[in-house]
Amino acid sequence: DTDYDAETAVLDEDGVPADAPPAPVVAVVGRPNVGKSTLVNRIIGRREAVVEDVPGVTRDRVAYDATWSGRRFTVVDTGGWLPDAVGLAAAIAEQARLAVELADVVMFVVDATVGATDVDEAVVEILRRSGKPVVLVANKVDNAGTEADAAMLWSLGIGEPYPVSALHGRGSGDLLDAVLAALPEEPPAETFEEIAGPRRVALLGRPNVGKSSLLNKLAGEKRAVVDSVAGTTRDPVDEMIELGGRTWRFIDTAGIRRRHRENQGADFYATLRTQSALERAEVAVVLVDADEPLAEQDLRIISMVIESGRALVIAYNKWDLLDEERRGYLDREIDRQLHNARWAPRVNISAKTGRHMEKLVPAIETALENWGTRVPTSKLNQFFADLVSSHPHPIRGGKQPRVLFATQAGVRPPRFVLFTSGFLEEGYRRFIERRLREEFGFEGTPLDVTMKIRE
Ligand code: GDP
Ligand code: GDP
Repeated sequence: DTDYDAETAVLDEDGVPADAPPAPVVAVVGRPNVGKSTLVNRIIGRREAVVEDVPGVTRDRVAYDATWSGRRFTVVDTGGWLPDAVGLAAAIAEQARLAVELADVVMFVVDATVGATDVDEAVVEILRRSGKPVVLVANKVDNAGTEADAAMLWSLGIGEPYPVSALHGRGSGDLLDAVLAALPEEPPAETFEEIAGPRRVALLGRPNVGKSSLLNKLAGEKRAVVDSVAGTTRDPVDEMIELGGRTWRFIDTAGIRRRHRENQGADFYATLRTQSALERAEVAVVLVDADEPLAEQDLRIISMVIESGRALVIAYNKWDLLDEERRGYLDREIDRQLHNARWAPRVNISAKTGRHMEKLVPAIETALENWGTRVPTSKLNQFFADLVSSHPHPIRGGKQPRVLFATQAGVRPPRFVLFTSGFLEEGYRRFIERRLREEFGFEGTPLDVTMKIRE
């Protein structure tokens, strides 16, 4: 009984389309025992406790995917952090600052049966200064008789208190409606063309590597030439080519075919062309001449693809020219030379003989799929919790920076934002990227990992 079309929808394990825009973040803040984790459980619709309540112990999972009225968001239980904060007031203040920093909306939970405490007032101060939208939760209003307790919380001066019983579910619908209303506008859905149109491929490589030979081989008789940008002077021309049961758009093929009319040494124009083809492409196939040593220009083109954030496949062409000996050691040589693109699928082809032509499309498809991968927040944070405990950052100057929480902020390529308690050094960031790749695949796609540091 699914409400989506299984034929076309690509859903990850949480039922989220793989290419959905990033979910906004809702952070839950409040003193211990006001009912934060009970509320989080209620929101994500789980009966069992999310975490064992061991005071003073950092919970290993703090972020969860949630949906209300069809809108996705990520709930972050900030109570799960702060193992080393000194004193309750300081700890809660820290929690609030963190929440403000990472969240689109803050849910501030107060125990209505207790009323507002000094600590609550201090948190309100921080929240108010931040200017972030705040939804005030008056929890433990288990029945209508205690609703007056909730009304008392108007005195905090941050707007309407929503009376709820996280334990029994009372009032949680109205609360979530208020949270949804406070979320930023949903980014516009991508156009049909972007989702369902032919995928856009750029064939790149220095002169004479075999681009136009490959294009001819792939296109065969079945090709349609289209003007991609009508009315411009540049007039790049794309070709629609059917391969592996679908139509692909090969970008700026005019540039490839016109090659023979261009001068030698037109390096500058070649670079411009590569750049503009990349801008319009989703995936680049970089051709390299297997029969020649890897050139500076090959590496430069590969770097341009990585910089542009496009998916990447590397095709070693002219494989037919290699003798057994060279075939034997080329793989190792490539591995060493392409150390920053080891994650790119490699195919060894011959545009002349047609060798391994059939491997090209699956490699492109793999790269594109991983380029659009979204890792569920819960999985991502489980991954970081494991990583931080098994491979903590080295201690520097008496401090040990930690990854507190991570979110995938985007796809194409996958973009991750890590909220950390200090600066993560280069080596550790590379380690994180390597482990992310081991864990989640990502063959064929660059990754963008950035930090947000809490000092
Ligand atoms: P946290 O420390 O803020 O995460 O609080 P917990 O979610 O662990 O809840 C603390 C205690 O308050 C637990 O014993 C809960 O069962 C209880 N509690 C939470 N929400 C409610 C509620 O709405 N009504 C009542 N009566 N108790 C609640
Ligand atoms: P472009 O400048 O990258 O478009 O390269 P071309 O497609 O014009 O190829 C340059 C030269 O390499 C031509 O003489 C092709 O016939 C030759 N060539 C291309 N692919 C192969 C191949 O797989 N094997 C061999 N032996 N020659 C190739």
